Amino acid sequence: MGADEREEEQLRSVALENARSIVRARQRAERDLVATREALEQQTQALTLSLAMIRATLESTFDGILVTDVQGKVTGCNEKYLKMWQLPRDPSGSDHARLLELCAQQLPDPARYLARAEEIRTGSVAESSDLLELTDGRVFERFSSIEYIDGRNVGRVWSFRDVTIQKQTEAQLRDQREWFQVTLASIGDGVITTDVHGRVTFMNPMAERMTGWGLASARGQPLERVFAIVNEFTRETVPNPVQQVLREGTTVGLSNHTLLLTRDGAEIAVEDSAAPIRDAHGVITGTVMVFHDVSARRGAETALRDADRRKDEFLATLAHELRNPLAPIRQAALISKAAGATEAQKRWSHDVIDRQIQHMSLLLDDLLDISRVTRGTLVLRIQPTDLADIIAAAVETARPTIDAKRHTLSIEVPEQAVRFNADPLRIAQMLSNLLTNAAKYTDPEGHIRLTARCAADEVVIQVADTGIGISTDSLPRIFEMFAQVATSRDRSEGGLGIGLALTKGLAELHGGRIEARSPGLGRGSEFTIHLPLKASARAPQCAPDSGDAPRPAVGQRILIADDNRDSAETLCALLRMDGHEVRVVHDGPEALAAFGEFRPAVVLLDIGMPGLDGYEVAQRMCGACSWELKLVAITGWAQENDRERALAAGFDHHLTKPVDLQRLRALLQPAGAAAAPAGY
Ligand code: ADP
Repeated sequence: MGADEREEEQLRSVALENARSIVRARQRAERDLVATREALEQQTQALTLSLAMIRATLESTFDGILVTDVQGKVTGCNEKYLKMWQLPRDPSGSDHARLLELCAQQLPDPARYLARAEEIRTGSVAESSDLLELTDGRVFERFSSIEYIDGRNVGRVWSFRDVTIQKQTEAQLRDQREWFQVTLASIGDGVITTDVHGRVTFMNPMAERMTGWGLASARGQPLERVFAIVNEFTRETVPNPVQQVLREGTTVGLSNHTLLLTRDGAEIAVEDSAAPIRDAHGVITGTVMVFHDVSARRGAETALRDADRRKDEFLATLAHELRNPLAPIRQAALISKAAGATEAQKRWSHDVIDRQIQHMSLLLDDLLDISRVTRGTLVLRIQPTDLADIIAAAVETARPTIDAKRHTLSIEVPEQAVRFNADPLRIAQMLSNLLTNAAKYTDPEGHIRLTARCAADEVVIQVADTGIGISTDSLPRIFEMFAQVATSRDRSEGGLGIGLALTKGLAELHGGRIEARSPGLGRGSEFTIHLPLKASARAPQCAPDSGDAPRPAVGQRILIADDNRDSAETLCALLRMDGHEVRVVHDGPEALAAFGEFRPAVVLLDIGMPGLDGYEVAQRMCGACSWELKLVAITGWAQENDRERALAAGFDHHLTKPVDLQRLRALLQPAGAAAAPAGY
């Protein structure tokens, strides 16, 4: 082969080679193209999938979401957003400003809403959070944030969350908490809560006040420290109820007689109960303890017990005091009827009987008076009264007791006469009480001093002694009814413990007061009565008595009806001695029979008679009487309502037993002569 042929052969093989490599390159390019297209398709599919997922996510979220670009065009939103704002269609591509307009209409202040949206949109606020309260009551929370891609601001995402229910729940919770706090702060009970370990978690203001612990310092402390309790009598620590509640899971009440020891050492009588606090699953998460101050009630209970004890002591003393005079009376009666008794012995025994009866009557009078003072029915007979006369009368009454113990009595009264308005008998009664007490509670040969003076608008009378004195503890109680100080010589001085209560009551009825002072036991006592110079009696007053002592009226026909024969016969004998014509009967029917036949001018009727009682007899006598008649009830009952009942039944007068002969004589005065008012 020649050179030309070889060259041609070479060229052909090069061209062939080129053509092959071109074909191979195209084939490679085509393969690459296919691969690229396939990759693109895969990516497009993945993108479509992730877009679908994003959309699905957006749709499934509870929030409404709106996306805008930097120009304020809406690039997307979810269904929820449209629904929340009640917008009609997909607003993609539309103007954000238009949407804002539509939303703003649903708020009470659209202009404010728009201004704020504009501020967020145009300002560089990276993130915002607002609460929107719609006119229909719904509440939305709006968040917005700028979205960046590769550090470039590409728009903003707005998300809206409907928080209406949450806000309502929060408001309800707030209300409840408020209500609970106001309740806890205003109730009179202390409330403490603890955790499951019995450590304080909360206490209300009352609990703070009572324990002396503030919540801040008490929180976390064991309850036993904050609420320390002991038994009132044993002083031993009382187990805290909270431990039992935690152990047993039941409500536990505190035992009686529990004292709370406060942080500053005071003691308060308390009553409480503790209960478990459980969660929704019934598991105990703590305890609540409620307690209150029962000091006042305990005080009242103690006072009641004291009063009851004093009443029992009083009854025992009363029985003793009433029985005391019976022995001398019986013995004196025996002496006077003894065959060999001389006239002098008989007179002496009569004096003894008279004295003892006088003593018993005084006791009973005091009893009745104190009952009238406490019920406010005691009637004062206020009249111009001479101070010196009252003092003389009081001294006369107390003189036997003073003399019996050989005391010296000194009296200092103003030189010029003092006259003031008062009930002279009652003032004398008060003073003789004080003088008798001074004599009783002073060892023999002591000194008693009575002084009286006039101050600006009052009369001040003082009785001081050198006697056994009164302890500071007892002083506040001695004016209480039935009060008797234990140290008073085992009651050897007797008395019912009502004298001072009565004296105080009488002073107060006069608009005055009484005070007691004593430097201490064994150092004497001093009682001071203040009486206003001008009468200002707080009790109903009566017209003054005519001062003349009644003289026995003579020659009246008197019928006595009393089932107590001794009482009837002795009264009959006394009235006959006064010159009256007297007949005695012992029951109601007899009284009525004698009435018609005897035609008495005066009938003295016992109320409690067998057969017909005195009220009924009186009524029948009134109905059958054609002549002038005086009906007098004579009873052992001297309460105000007994008197009223007697007067209502037709009696003209009401006298209590034993009959005061002076009063009876006054009543027997014929009409027109001075007579005392109805008995009191
Ligand atoms: P009574 O004398 O019947 O017991 P009172 O009411 O008169 O009752 O007195 C009450 C108590 O006050 C007395 O029991 C006595 O303990 C005390 N008391 C009264 N007066 C005096 C006094 N002058 N000195 C000491 N104690 C007195």
